[in-house]
Amino acid sequence: MAHAIKFHPSMALLEQFAEGTLSADVALAVSAHIDLCPHCQRLNRDITADMASQLEKAAPTGSSTDWQDMIAAIVAQPQLAKTAQPELAQAQPIRVNQREFVMPRALQRLAAEHGKWLQLGGIATAKLPAGAGHHVSLLYIADDTEVPQHTHLGLEMTLVLAGKIVDENGEYVAGDLLINSPDDTHTPRTLAGQDCLCLSVLSAPLQFKKGLTRLLNPLQQFFY
Ligand SMILES: [Zn+2]
Repeated sequence: MAHAIKFHPSMALLEQFAEGTLSADVALAVSAHIDLCPHCQRLNRDITADMASQLEKAAPTGSSTDWQDMIAAIVAQPQLAKTAQPELAQAQPIRVNQREFVMPRALQRLAAEHGKWLQLGGIATAKLPAGAGHHVSLLYIADDTEVPQHTHLGLEMTLVLAGKIVDENGEYVAGDLLINSPDDTHTPRTLAGQDCLCLSVLSAPLQFKKGLTRLLNPLQQFFY
């Protein structure tokens, strides 16, 4: 692989994912990252196996079949996800800007239900159905395009699905998961000759830093 994934979910986030305690939309981004990241696939298997063995230790003596079924179900989850892959690999690619993108397994069902693409300069966005409290969208950025500098009123998770994006903090390739909190300000952009498709999960609108508020308000609505 020419470009290795460098930005992974934290261990805490992977643990919460395995425990099933993340909100559906955050879990979606983590799950799609795991699909793209062999490193986190291994970690996820280890965490899940660890949880199962801890449950086993905690099991009452002469444990009931219910308990064993529960452990079996937890251990079986990653394998189930794997065997479901071949049929879903035929899922329709996402088309935007005369380009086609194949979605990671975890995203295929939801991505197929995307809303209308809205275009603003070189940037296009399409909403995905989301749970309460989050805004989930596909974000396409044509090559050589800058997203205006912004901070975050809430959590911003961006999973690069294809292509490359850069900001003040680094370069992000397919599989990289960027998590920005309200304290972070950044100006993501694409380079010449390289567009980018991302999954964006926001818990609050972006706040743009430069220019006139009256011009930036529509921008804020565009991204949320
Ligand atoms: Zn990873």
